[in-house]
Amino acid sequence: MIVARGLTKTYGPKVAVDGLSFTVEPGRVTGFLGPNGAGKSTTMRMMVGLDRPTAGTVTINGRSYADSAAPLRTVGALLEARALHPGRSARNHLRWLAASNGIPVRRVDEVLDLVGLTDVADQRVGRFSLGMGQRLGIAVALLGDPPVVVLDEPVNGLDPEGIRWVRTLARELASQGRTVLVSSHLMSEMALTADHLIVVGRGRMLADCSMAQFIADH
Ligand code: ADP
Ligand code: ADP
Repeated sequence: MIVARGLTKTYGPKVAVDGLSFTVEPGRVTGFLGPNGAGKSTTMRMMVGLDRPTAGTVTINGRSYADSAAPLRTVGALLEARALHPGRSARNHLRWLAASNGIPVRRVDEVLDLVGLTDVADQRVGRFSLGMGQRLGIAVALLGDPPVVVLDEPVNGLDPEGIRWVRTLARELASQGRTVLVSSHLMSEMALTADHLIVVGRGRMLADCSMAQFIADH
């Protein structure tokens, strides 16, 4: 479960996230919808300890990661700004992350298979297409078999088959009882993926309700 209370982030005069309070429950897919610049990425970065809140708190299963990055076994995150080392192969990248996070190395082949990268696992990441990069980012997010999965714009760069795959994956992770938060700027995408919707604009909460309720209201 993810709990945000009065979560706020300012960059100089710019208020990127403006007092957001919400709960992301396990066992369902929560969609995080809002136009570009609404504050979704900043909110997700604060969840995993990549950005420090200016005010307020966000906890994952009761813990705040404001002072230390969340371990891969607690929360798996696909975040736009996280660069992958271009000279490493996908397999090496995952092996290194597994080793440095106390994750059994056999998990590497499991997640490569899960995201469909087994055949290109030994190619340099620098040669990957956007879609392959997204798949590798998702592999990293799932490497630690985490109870909480946060995916920022996961369908970016994927082809239609890849997009359907991400939807199915998100739903599967939720049906396993995990907490799943998926962001998008597209309502059409959220409608096909999420059970629950959190809508933000200019850093503020616009709606927090079930998908069925949101569709009935709009
Ligand atoms: P979204 O993910 O919804 O597109 P972001 O969280 O990326 O939104 O951005 C929210 C706002 O915060 C935007 O106006 C963006 O320009 C600003 N912002 C994000 N990161 C920074 C930063 N490092 N420095 C200054 N402004 C930033
Ligand atoms: P550092 O860069 O601080 O030496 P790591 O690169 O191992 O340490 O990353 C620190 C934490 O960031 C990891 O434990 C993991 O939770 C997370 N992390 C690192 N790389 C990625 C990635 N590509 N995608 C998602 N999370 C990552």
